[in-house]
Amino acid sequence: MTAQTDKPPVSPIVTRFAPSPTGNLHIGGARTALFAWAFARKHGGQLILRIEDTDRARSTPQSTQGIIRDLQWLGLDWDQGPGPAPGSCEKWDPYDRDSQLGPHAPYFQSQRHEAGIYDKLIQKLLDSGQAYEDEDTVRFRMDKDIAFNDVVFGPINIKAADLEDFIIRKGEKGGRLPTFHFAVTVDDATMGVTHVIRGQEHLANTPKHAALCDALGFDRPQWVHLPSIMNADGSKMSKRDKAKAARKAAKTYTDEHGENAYNEMLLQSHPEPMRFFDTGENRPSTFTSTDFLEGRTDSAMYVSLICNGLGITPPEIEVDDFNRSGYLPHILLNYIALLGWNPGDDTERFDMQFLIEHFDLARIGKKNSQFDRAKLAKFNAEALAEMPAEDFYCILIDHFANYHHEYLDKLNYAGFRTFAAAYQARSQTLDSPAQLGRFFVYGEFEYNAKAVKKNLTKNDGEGLNVLREFRDELASCNDWTADTLHSLIESFVEKHQLKNMGSVAQPLRVALTGSAVSPEIGPTMALLGKEAVLNRIDRCIKTVSP
Ligand code: GLU
Repeated sequence: MTAQTDKPPVSPIVTRFAPSPTGNLHIGGARTALFAWAFARKHGGQLILRIEDTDRARSTPQSTQGIIRDLQWLGLDWDQGPGPAPGSCEKWDPYDRDSQLGPHAPYFQSQRHEAGIYDKLIQKLLDSGQAYEDEDTVRFRMDKDIAFNDVVFGPINIKAADLEDFIIRKGEKGGRLPTFHFAVTVDDATMGVTHVIRGQEHLANTPKHAALCDALGFDRPQWVHLPSIMNADGSKMSKRDKAKAARKAAKTYTDEHGENAYNEMLLQSHPEPMRFFDTGENRPSTFTSTDFLEGRTDSAMYVSLICNGLGITPPEIEVDDFNRSGYLPHILLNYIALLGWNPGDDTERFDMQFLIEHFDLARIGKKNSQFDRAKLAKFNAEALAEMPAEDFYCILIDHFANYHHEYLDKLNYAGFRTFAAAYQARSQTLDSPAQLGRFFVYGEFEYNAKAVKKNLTKNDGEGLNVLREFRDELASCNDWTADTLHSLIESFVEKHQLKNMGSVAQPLRVALTGSAVSPEIGPTMALLGKEAVLNRIDRCIKTVSP
């Protein structure tokens, strides 16, 4: 065989993911990136990551870093674009020209603008009369009918009369930068992109892009628009949903407790509650609580203040939200692959190898898909339960080291192994053990009234009596291990001729956790430690005794 025949054929497929760095990567963006990635990988093609930062006021380097970090967390790689982030990306500069990969660098539109790529082509359109200057901007003349075929939505025909001339270069105020429409068209063509896979919100922009391609003499790419992702209530899933949830909770709280209590609640986590700084959309500005409650700002900082203060978790929208909540990246990818695509049969659980093998643009449907949180949680719970115990332990340590360090401090590593084992089968997410096992770290819980009645006070305080007597046994126990504690309960049950282990374990559970649910009682007591167990029993007896 000659060297030539050994070479794999060069794939003609080039696709790209082109986020605007105006915020975190949200679930819709992740689905777009996944489909572009799967399509490129299936065909042995190229995936370009291009950063569309021509909106100077809204683009931030932090957003670029965040998007790259999130793509890496998901395990989606690219062949051209900014380099991958190093382990710690805080001080890393993705704009650094030397770290960008690929023959079409730079991959930031701001840098491509500085290199004169867009201005040269705008001049060409001005010279040929296809564009004209209007006050201080440049407009493109939309004077022809446009027809194109979208891979998902089919043929689209627009009459010239329904089209308006549009701006391709902003004026002085916009830094004389090209508009999104111009930059995206030029970049796709000059980077050799064959397939533009993106969200449906860009379908309406596509006649402009088609007309620009024609005027500049570029081949048109294939356009593939992905249907929208909707919430259960039929609204479009968007990052505003988090602010919406926080606003609703804040209003309920204010209605029930009054404005003073609301401000007091905010004060707990913020020194000066009445003036907040919004670095989000458009420009930095200050705002008041009323501005937020009346919907004039969606400040992410304010949303997290409310959520922390009220102890609520807003709906996950951005990829980082899912990471924080403890979803596994490959499960999130598996789930979002099903939003608008299917493998042609009922298969729902698959890995990325399967997706690459089966991915086909022809199986992307036109219909909007609904984001089914319960289904994602089920996928995640199954994956966590199926994991070897050691893997679960390692992955849980990692998650808790990032988000719930107090559990590691309290339980230490050996204890954390028991903790992980106790919750593996019952965890929907890596955060579940922090909620289910909160009592391991925080002793100031309330007692569930039903559990108290059933397990402690009914039948003239039968359970409370057991608790009082068993406390003495515990106080004299000198081998505080799960096995010994278990045997201690067994012999107590036998000695006092009680019904079963539950006759002791249930009163203990209420005293130690506030509810009648906990992992096995022996390991639970072993983990809590003797002092905490005795103290909690004392507090419980004192609190619930009539
Ligand atoms: N930068 C655009 C956005 O983030 C995407 C443009 C495209 O994919 O063509 O919405």
